Amino acid sequence: MAERTLRGSRLGSVSYETDRNTELAPRREIEYSCPKGHTFTVPMSGEAEPPYSWECRLDGSIGTLTEGHAEQSKATKPQRTHWDMLMERRSIADLEEVLAERLELLRGRKAGRKSA
Ligand SMILES: [Zn+2]
Repeated sequence: MAERTLRGSRLGSVSYETDRNTELAPRREIEYSCPKGHTFTVPMSGEAEPPYSWECRLDGSIGTLTEGHAEQSKATKPQRTHWDMLMERRSIADLEEVLAERLELLRGRKAGRKSA
């Protein structure tokens, strides 16, 4: 560690600064797979939306995002579920009211069946 710092300062401030800048920018490895079965990663800044396709380094064919990352981008823009749509129209209090009504209906039906 100490050796590395010494070497860095001997090489000059330029390379040292570059190292620091790289560390500061949030980076991530985006994984792609090409039609020929190669899997490769492309380093990207954390904020950038990864392109859907990337040229494979090994054969130049067009690789596409692997499923893991496709899922990740889905997570940032979540698909609306039935629950989400329901919650846009109803509050929890509303739902509790509806539930209470339904339960009462069910109980009433059971009671009706019993008495009949
Ligand atoms: Zn390939």
